[in-house]
Amino acid sequence: MNHAQLTALGRALRVLGEHGESLSADTLDAKLHEVKDDLRRALDLLEETVTTAVPSTRCAEHPTGPVDESAPDLCLLCETRRRTARRAEFNGPAPQAPAAEPTPSRYGMRADRPQPQQRWLPELWNGQAWQLCGTPRRDRREAELFIAAQRRGPRPAMAYRIVHEFTDYEVLRVWGTPTRTDIEPLGNL
Ligand SMILES: [Zn+2]
Repeated sequence: MNHAQLTALGRALRVLGEHGESLSADTLDAKLHEVKDDLRRALDLLEETVTTAVPSTRCAEHPTGPVDESAPDLCLLCETRRRTARRAEFNGPAPQAPAAEPTPSRYGMRADRPQPQQRWLPELWNGQAWQLCGTPRRDRREAELFIAAQRRGPRPAMAYRIVHEFTDYEVLRVWGTPTRTDIEPLGNL
């Protein structure tokens, strides 16, 4: 964005702000048309200014790559890589040529398998995206208590959620409504 664009966009956005301030039940249609024109002008200025594609993921490596809604960074490419790594971790090395069947144990098979690692990640909605807001917990109840405490805190976020991290991600519960808010308009121009 060059300086002229910045100045023009700042001016257009401030005009919109003033429209917002003066809006009331008595606002005339003529005024609303004026608002519409000013909105359109601001949008046109933005179109000219923003030349890059909207990032589809929060991944620094693949910002416009394919999306996996369930991935914490929305990146399908990285999520696939992580899933493969997790699976390899849980399943151990690829099975070798069929060896002799293990002798059945009277204690069952449980000890033969690695215990799966799972975590509950507390996340908050920052107005743009979900972000980790505390230490991942080994216990779901503990993560829920943590979020309950956050919600009672002095400056709670708009929404919280817990993500279950296992061999996959699953949103278990959402608190609040994650509405998308605009980035602060360019101030102090
Ligand atoms: Zn990625």
